Amino acid sequence: KSIQDELKDAIRTIPDYPKEGILFRDISTLLGDARAFRRAVDALVQPWAGSKVDQIAGIEARGFILGGAVAHQLSGGFVPIRKKGKLPYETVRIAYSLEYGIDEMEMHKDAIKPGDKVIVVDDLIATGGTAEAACKLLQSMGADIVAACFIVDLPELGGRSKLEALNVPVRTLVAFD
Ligand code: IMP
Repeated sequence: KSIQDELKDAIRTIPDYPKEGILFRDISTLLGDARAFRRAVDALVQPWAGSKVDQIAGIEARGFILGGAVAHQLSGGFVPIRKKGKLPYETVRIAYSLEYGIDEMEMHKDAIKPGDKVIVVDDLIATGGTAEAACKLLQSMGADIVAACFIVDLPELGGRSKLEALNVPVRTLVAFD
């Protein structure tokens, strides 16, 4: 079985979650499958194995799980990017639009040093709005974003081009139409 097929088979699809008409791609089954979890993390980091990456920025919440594993694998630090109001120290914030209304995400203001090489991690890219906001926030602090990595791409929603417009290369492992 190819790695794409193995990872795809390890992801559960839940119809009508969180609302009717949505097919939710649930990676918790992949995380619970020891072999698939390891293969996914190894495949995500493979282009940067042996190169210097300063920080891995994980997007709340599933990006924390993958980002921690990626940081360990690349011997980088980990930076949490969180929904507003969760971080204890001084933060920098960015607003971004959701399907209905707007939200804000933030990170600690001292989490990134100018010139740091950073990899952004989340489980899935759909419209790209979430990852785009995270990348803009990191770039505003001087991060050099080496890549944004996701297990799942929903290519019909066009997220990749939003990140490429910020000069951020995108790496994904499996796609669902
Ligand atoms: P975007 O901002 O439209 O790209 O949505 C991506 C964000 O929403 C990520 O943080 C994902 O974890 C979450 N998300 C959207 N759709 C799904 C899904 O089908 N499964 C899991 N997470 C999803």
